Amino acid sequence: MAERKKITVLGSTGSIGEHTLRVAAEQPGRLEITALAARSNADRLVAQARACHVKRVCLLDPAAAKRARELDPSLDVLEGSAGMCELASAPNAGIVVMALVGLSGLEPTLAALAAGHDVALATKEVLVGAGELVMAEAARTGAKLLPVDSEHSAVFQCIQGISDRSDRSDRSDGSLKNISRITLTASGGPFFNKPLANFETVSIAETLAHPKWRMGQKISVDSATMMNKGLELIEARWLFDLPPERLDVVVHPESIVHALVEFADGATLAQLSPPDMRVAIQYALSWPDRWPAARERLDLAQLRSLNFFAPDETRFPCLALARAAMKSGGLMPTVLNAANEIAVEGFLAGKIPLASVPRLIERAMESAESGAPNLQAVIETDAETRARVGGWL
Ligand code: MG
Repeated sequence: MAERKKITVLGSTGSIGEHTLRVAAEQPGRLEITALAARSNADRLVAQARACHVKRVCLLDPAAAKRARELDPSLDVLEGSAGMCELASAPNAGIVVMALVGLSGLEPTLAALAAGHDVALATKEVLVGAGELVMAEAARTGAKLLPVDSEHSAVFQCIQGISDRSDRSDRSDGSLKNISRITLTASGGPFFNKPLANFETVSIAETLAHPKWRMGQKISVDSATMMNKGLELIEARWLFDLPPERLDVVVHPESIVHALVEFADGATLAQLSPPDMRVAIQYALSWPDRWPAARERLDLAQLRSLNFFAPDETRFPCLALARAAMKSGGLMPTVLNAANEIAVEGFLAGKIPLASVPRLIERAMESAESGAPNLQAVIETDAETRARVGGWL
């Protein structure tokens, strides 16, 4: 058997992180975890480190790092963003699975890419907030961004082995291969069939009850407003180097088809699988190979039908806001992302109704200043927008 692939999991105590550790446990002959990191859940991180025989961990929150050291003095515990960057760029890091929530994933992603490590990217906010910067860094060092988001994994799977010699001879990693359109599917979330007024009164519990996927709180709220799909459009724009007008969304409540890729010759490929995050996570780690795994199999005869609907941007204004930010480019997606993160926190803290989330984002975008998206500007714009929107809550 070939040598095991090394992986470093940043954000290991969240939903994607836990699924990644399950994939690693299912593939003991193929994957080896070298380091783990989390934002603040020291107890869970220490337990994971023991179970995975990992000696090096990091916590973003210094108080949590202190607790981890107390829990297990034998662990090498790093802390803060600098610690995350150190793990991400360590010589033995292997593939860096980026699953930290929000823009806190940006600097460690850049550090991994700068060190030449491939990044299995689950944190879409990294590409939404700083896509131009991140893609430029990947291009500079030749490191790859391997999509973990199920829709982007689906696109990535559909474009394997398709030659791009005719128009992009300089690319070998899955970019614009005579693709005329990419369509991401959206489940529609828990409020797909509910009237607009519903968003004024829905509870936090109803919002978090996603019909198809079990996910973290932030992404569950994003899914209910369909901002998740808006962020994914921007993510796809960067990963696959397509202009905004060639990116689409279709609502597909069964979450069986994850994305469709239409080519210049009129053929469309789609990727189908039962909704299980491990499929996308494992593919990011096994690529370019596929590994056998015990998963639920698709039974189309039993399903009998799959449904598709056009998204309603009046009822889901976040989708339109994300499209507008994508078209504006520059720092506008950074503003969109930061405003959304703070508005979602406000909703989860019970300060605002769900209907206020798009209102606050729109207000932040109206008063945003434009500029070139270098690292300094991204970090400043992110912080300014957070402070502004926080003040409105
Ligand atoms: Mg997704």
